[in-house]
Amino acid sequence: MIELKNIEKYYSSKGIKHYVLRHVTTTIKQGEFVSIMGPSGAGKSTLLNILGMLEEPTYGTYEFLGEDVTTLKERKRIELYRNHIGFVFQAYHLIDEMTVYENIEAPLLYKKVAGAERASRIADLLDRFNIVAKKDLFPNQLSGGQQQLVGIARALAAQPSIILADEPTGNLQSAQAEQIMELFKKLNVEEGITIVQVTHSEKNAQYGSRILNIADGVVKDDITVASV
Ligand code: ADP
Ligand code: ADP
Repeated sequence: MIELKNIEKYYSSKGIKHYVLRHVTTTIKQGEFVSIMGPSGAGKSTLLNILGMLEEPTYGTYEFLGEDVTTLKERKRIELYRNHIGFVFQAYHLIDEMTVYENIEAPLLYKKVAGAERASRIADLLDRFNIVAKKDLFPNQLSGGQQQLVGIARALAAQPSIILADEPTGNLQSAQAEQIMELFKKLNVEEGITIVQVTHSEKNAQYGSRILNIADGVVKDDITVASV
């Protein structure tokens, strides 16, 4: 599903290149659940943002579902993103002025999904995530865990092939964090949605099937998680 070849990312200042990622070559198959781990500043978020087409590598090739993302026209890239990628953020990034319902609906409006289909998908997500009673509330009226459920519901609304999550439980207490990880596991196992998360938590990483350890912009280890 994803093929990265020799990805590099650097920032230039005063003629000096500061490398964030170097020689990153890896493959992610449909149905995998990958955790990207490593120290702060290692390049984890940058790698996830490249996978999510939010940042461009300075060198190397990135193929997503057989398309070479690095040479795609902007419009095609946005289309690929909207049809296949659901991004989940540590700080939720919900729109404060919109209700829970409207936040989940937003990506469906972008994709011009018809009214009846929108309503049925949103009702289904509200129901599955047990947040029907919250649908007319605003994000600041919810707990962090509930806001993240809305963030995930929004990511799922467009029926993505892959969820990319940057420290999805970084702002949550452990009970809420476990609920989110259980949900990811379920989406992965039962619906075959590919998941790639950045996490500092060994415990969170154990929910997945594979750990990519990165340090100083380089992949140090690629470990298969033993299933229990
Ligand atoms: P960013 O989201 O900007 O990439 P970091 O990855 O540096 O931020 O850190 C994300 C969160 O994880 C922060 O709340 C930070 O305090 C915490 N954190 C950073 N490094 C570690 C670590 N080694 N172990 C546990 N928590 C960490
Ligand atoms: P991590 O998620 O592992 O904490 P990041 O991918 O956020 O790491 O950042 C890796 C390195 O890239 C850091 O040293 C950071 O300061 C640097 N970096 C990230 N974005 C920029 C930018 N826009 N300009 C310059 N340096 C950046």
